[in-house]
Amino acid sequence: MEEKILAPEAGEKEVISKNFIEMEIEKDLAEGVYDHVQTRFPPEPNGYLHIGHAKSILLNYGLAQKYNGKFNLRFDDTNPTKEKTEFVESIIADVKWLGAEFEDRLFFASNYFEQMYECAVFLIKKGKAFVCDLSAEEIREYRGDFNTPGKESPYRNRSIEENLELFAQMREGKFKDGEKVLRAKIDMASPNINMRDPVIYRVARMSHHNTGDAWCIYPMYDFAHPIEDAIEHVTHSICTLEFEDHRPLYDWVVRECEFENPPRQIEFAKLYLTNVVTGKRYIKKLVEDGIVDGWDDPRLVSIAALRRRGYTPESIRMFVDLVGVSKANSSVDYAMLEYCIREDLKLKKARMMAILDPVKLVIDNYPEGEVEELEVPNNLENEALGSRKVPFSRELYIEREDFMENPPKKYFRLFPGNEVRLFGAYFVTCTGFEKDEEGKVTVIHCTYDPETKSGSGFTGRKVKGTIHWVEAGSAKTVECRLYENIVDEEKGKLNEDGSLNLNPNSLTVLPNCLVEPALAEAKAYDSFQFMRNGYFCADCKDSQPGKPVFNRIVSLKSSFKLPK
Ligand code: ATP
Ligand code: MG
Repeated sequence: MEEKILAPEAGEKEVISKNFIEMEIEKDLAEGVYDHVQTRFPPEPNGYLHIGHAKSILLNYGLAQKYNGKFNLRFDDTNPTKEKTEFVESIIADVKWLGAEFEDRLFFASNYFEQMYECAVFLIKKGKAFVCDLSAEEIREYRGDFNTPGKESPYRNRSIEENLELFAQMREGKFKDGEKVLRAKIDMASPNINMRDPVIYRVARMSHHNTGDAWCIYPMYDFAHPIEDAIEHVTHSICTLEFEDHRPLYDWVVRECEFENPPRQIEFAKLYLTNVVTGKRYIKKLVEDGIVDGWDDPRLVSIAALRRRGYTPESIRMFVDLVGVSKANSSVDYAMLEYCIREDLKLKKARMMAILDPVKLVIDNYPEGEVEELEVPNNLENEALGSRKVPFSRELYIEREDFMENPPKKYFRLFPGNEVRLFGAYFVTCTGFEKDEEGKVTVIHCTYDPETKSGSGFTGRKVKGTIHWVEAGSAKTVECRLYENIVDEEKGKLNEDGSLNLNPNSLTVLPNCLVEPALAEAKAYDSFQFMRNGYFCADCKDSQPGKPVFNRIVSLKSSFKLPK
């Protein structure tokens, strides 16, 4: 689907690749079909946006940018039953956060109801639409199926005058819900079932979040959507593959309503991710059952959840770019999204010290009562992030897994007799340890060598392991939350009864982590690398001033795994 074109001015290896939508747009511009590019993102305000929507948003926005065009945010709010203002607000916030700039072009399809009504009247006057009294069930029966042509409605040949009169009465509320519909008069024998005189207006007494009770008739999606696009002078109406069979109807509507320079529809494949739950029905159940903490639970992939987890707009843009645009449905590995956030944060974030599972380390030959301020670099790969001071003293905490009484081969961390580097501080040699009655290590003892101070230029000897630590007296206790995928595709996403096969370990709460003092100041959405433990972000819901809760965004790739 991708065409690779050699950039003439660039070296042989460089290629500019265009996706098939870009190729279509360039063809249209070259042929003068359009003299500008206008795209839109048309969400239905019936839920929170997810990573799939992010792809659609960034695709539409990106195309507008690339071709000096404009991008609109338009709510496709023509079906009042499931729509809520809460969703309108969350969608606006999410689109803005992703950086898709719609400026003052925020539109609501419901503001076009009058124009849609006029389009319907126009079609009736052309003899292209008729009021039908068949029930929903009868309409279905008459429609036929893939193998059987449809049967024409007995109301199909009503006069234009009668149709105009009846349609006006539909609007005035003369009929009960479902009693009459307006249908396009196209072709009951069409091989495309969508073209068999589709319903374009129905009577439905529903209060609308925007228009209230002004209307008791509502347009159907396939009629409303092309009109919305045409009103906004959209050129390329980009949607997902399930609308491919609806394209002839889209074209019919804009043609018969005689819009000038009508928009065209182009379809692409939806984005699916492995090991995540995207279906609204499933998420709703997870929320209702209290398994997740709302639509923005960090284990979900709604945009709000990704933001709360600590994903950045940049990482999502990188992900969407890497995935590309395709005509074939496929699932993308969740690990790719993780790769993108690691890449984005790698050079941007300070690498701090936090101990998730603390055990005490006592440096027996370090002066009692003394506290040193050590200068440590914030990011060894990015000097621009500068350095900070961290306290150091005789008593520290280290990760429990950084000590072993009887280590396996290639374990380079602390064990009796072994020397390691304490990051940014000194070399220490393990001299012993204490255990409680259950055999759990409670204190590790060591001695330090003052000569080996970090930054002193010491070259006397090398050690294989570097471990991180926090100073006992100044460390702050915080809660950290570790996540695993909520479902595991390899183990089967669903149980036999159709319910989700949930991973019981999707959330681990560690209430007693110890962090260096600076981390206690973290505010909602601040993120850091916790050395060797991954990237963490201060939770926006549960953090308190001076007492943040940290969500692990993603782990670092680990070079060594303890044998189980
Ligand atoms: P869902 O049922 O998952 O919420 P939807 O299609 O009902 O999706 P809409 O609000 O109708 O949600 O969609 C808004 C836009 O987002 C549409 O243009 C739709 O094609 C696009 N979209 C929805 N899901 C995806 C996806 N997984 N990948 C790419 N685009 C998507
Ligand atoms: Mg929808």
